[in-house]
Amino acid sequence: PPEDIIFDPNIFAIGTGIEEHAGYAVAYIEAVRRIKAELPHALVSGGVSNVSFSFRGNDPVREAIHTVFLYHAIEAGMDMGIVNAGQLAIYSDIEPGLLERVEDVVLNRRADATDRLLAIADQVKGGPAATAADLAWRSLPVAGRLSHALVEGITDYIVEDTEEARRLAARPIEVIEGPLMDGMNVVGDLFGAGKMFLPQVVKSARVMKKAVAHLIPYIEAEKARGGSADAKAKGKVLLATVKGDVHDIGKNIVGVVLQCNNFEVIDLGVMVPAARILETARTEDVDLIGLSGLITPSLEEMAFVAGELEREGFDTPLLIGGATTSRAHTAVKIEPAYRRGPTVHVLDASRAVGVASSLMSDTLRSDFVTGIREEYRSVRAARAPRDGGRLQPIATAREARPPVDWTPAPAPGFLGVRHFDDYPLAELVERIDWTPFFQTWELRGHYPAILTDPEVGAAATSLFADAERMLRRILDDRLLRARGAVAFHPARARGDDIELLDGAGAVLATIHTLRQQMAKGEGRHNHALADYVAPADSGVPDYVGLFAVTAGAGAAEMIAAFRAAHDDYSAILAEALADRLAEAFAERLHERVRKELWGYASDEALDNTALIREEYQGIRPAPGYPACPDHTEKETIFGLLDAAKVGISLTESYAMLPGASVSGYYFWRPEARYFGVGKIGKDQVEDYARRKGWDLARAERWLAPNLGYER
Ligand code: SAH
Repeated sequence: PPEDIIFDPNIFAIGTGIEEHAGYAVAYIEAVRRIKAELPHALVSGGVSNVSFSFRGNDPVREAIHTVFLYHAIEAGMDMGIVNAGQLAIYSDIEPGLLERVEDVVLNRRADATDRLLAIADQVKGGPAATAADLAWRSLPVAGRLSHALVEGITDYIVEDTEEARRLAARPIEVIEGPLMDGMNVVGDLFGAGKMFLPQVVKSARVMKKAVAHLIPYIEAEKARGGSADAKAKGKVLLATVKGDVHDIGKNIVGVVLQCNNFEVIDLGVMVPAARILETARTEDVDLIGLSGLITPSLEEMAFVAGELEREGFDTPLLIGGATTSRAHTAVKIEPAYRRGPTVHVLDASRAVGVASSLMSDTLRSDFVTGIREEYRSVRAARAPRDGGRLQPIATAREARPPVDWTPAPAPGFLGVRHFDDYPLAELVERIDWTPFFQTWELRGHYPAILTDPEVGAAATSLFADAERMLRRILDDRLLRARGAVAFHPARARGDDIELLDGAGAVLATIHTLRQQMAKGEGRHNHALADYVAPADSGVPDYVGLFAVTAGAGAAEMIAAFRAAHDDYSAILAEALADRLAEAFAERLHERVRKELWGYASDEALDNTALIREEYQGIRPAPGYPACPDHTEKETIFGLLDAAKVGISLTESYAMLPGASVSGYYFWRPEARYFGVGKIGKDQVEDYARRKGWDLARAERWLAPNLGYER
């Protein structure tokens, strides 16, 4: 496969004083560009340190050369390289005088480039630039200071600088429309060019908001005197997370990024019913409607909202985003429900501005909309017919269940439920998996390597420092509270159901599981979670655990306080940290279950990395995820756990409230593993509906993403 091929073109030293060597860095960069153009799937590597060999002994200059070289090579398509990551500078941190001379050498821009770099090389060697230079920007004219503060995300002087600009301006609004918007445009351009990343942009927005907040009273006063003073926005965008869903962080990031680009944003928040979305769209006369959602039931709700927009005669463009949404779902299920208005799937927050700007542009809109419509038409046409042919009858699938060695289960340390009302946060911090935290901010890479990544390392390091600072505050001031519940019950499998029993052997509740139905090769199995529990007729004692945890108690108050201080950056940071702590709680509790509360693996000794890699015995599948995609099964878990007692509840779509919550089952057996149920046939859906006491239509609605046939 082409994507398995890695080219490793040579990188030779530049700045050697020999004329033929001057173009070697450029030659590599050109080679990368050419490989990528002609062999788009192949990857390109390079051994980097060689390039600066002639400056050995002068690490600061070498680091600058590596950084500049990587900056241009990565832009040309370089995928990987060998370099001392600990010795990389950040491109934008390189002192401008040095940067220019290094760039002259790397890009071979002038004949005397090497001499000019040598001329300053010894000064550079002297160590980090004087800190006085860090404040040099304070002597710029006020417009330059505002721009610098916006680009660097510095709030320290923003009120005094804004005030100075206001005094110099004829009207307060001119400060927004002049220097502040100019500064934000620089931010927008850097972001668009991949030289700034989301956390930095959200920080810039915080500077902007604080400046605007300072100006608002003056603008209001001018209005009161009869002047009209509204800044002209690029367009008005309504954002809402659909009914039953609590997805918030991604939507908030999109809102901030749009505001930075001079869109007016009306954020209706989470769990917003269709009627309210339509009503607000009408009364506020919005230009765009953005819907967001995290869990699969929201896909149906979004299609419903689209249908309502159609029915009520709207033609406002509809933007779709959030974790379970996709271009394919948008093309197949949402766009056809809303023929009048263009419907666009927005992959992530960084695309939102491009899409919104195209839709608001007189010159771009028509081509953009035609292009999307064309693209979605071909997505629908190219879609494989629902692949019912590869499914086997559910009875056959059941025969292919995985073999399990039915050793009797060790008895848990207690039966029934135990609540944790205020779990020590300090114990959770060390269990945090940081990689998804960076994903939330659209910084790609694994922690801790991401901190030294040549491209996003600087942004990641600064974000991480902010996160650690806030985590400290959360712990010291007890701003969040971790609460949870865990229960163990005797259990037995009956067909694809799992019966949970009380101490006397009576059935307390039933977990309904779904089975993989795709035809598999010889020796492979069709899994259902029920396979991991001893069948009723085996007579083997067995147990199942249940859990629900949250770290969201207190989050709403924290976020509201940050919002009130015009600080979206901290609000989003707090929300993301609450999520991390909830996941860490799930990890820590599972660990204690294995070692102590259930105790089936009391001698386990794994570090955090091994825990994140799930190298332990047993699993904790979560309803709504691939092994158990039916969200409604959370009702059983929450009932048995009496989760309301620890402040966790379910919405009508079975999303968990607070949002920073995790719930699931514990299966202890070594054979248990995570799998995806995948597409299922009508025979299983009918059987499942019978077991749940549902009619077929209801089962098909909740299982919509898994149906292997057309409804
Ligand atoms: N370390 C991650 C959390 C783990 S995500 C973080 O901090 O965000 C992995 C969890 O997702 C599992 O523990 C399980 O609860 C759930 N999960 C993963 N794959 C699953 C599957 N196929 N079916 C059900 N649940 C699954």
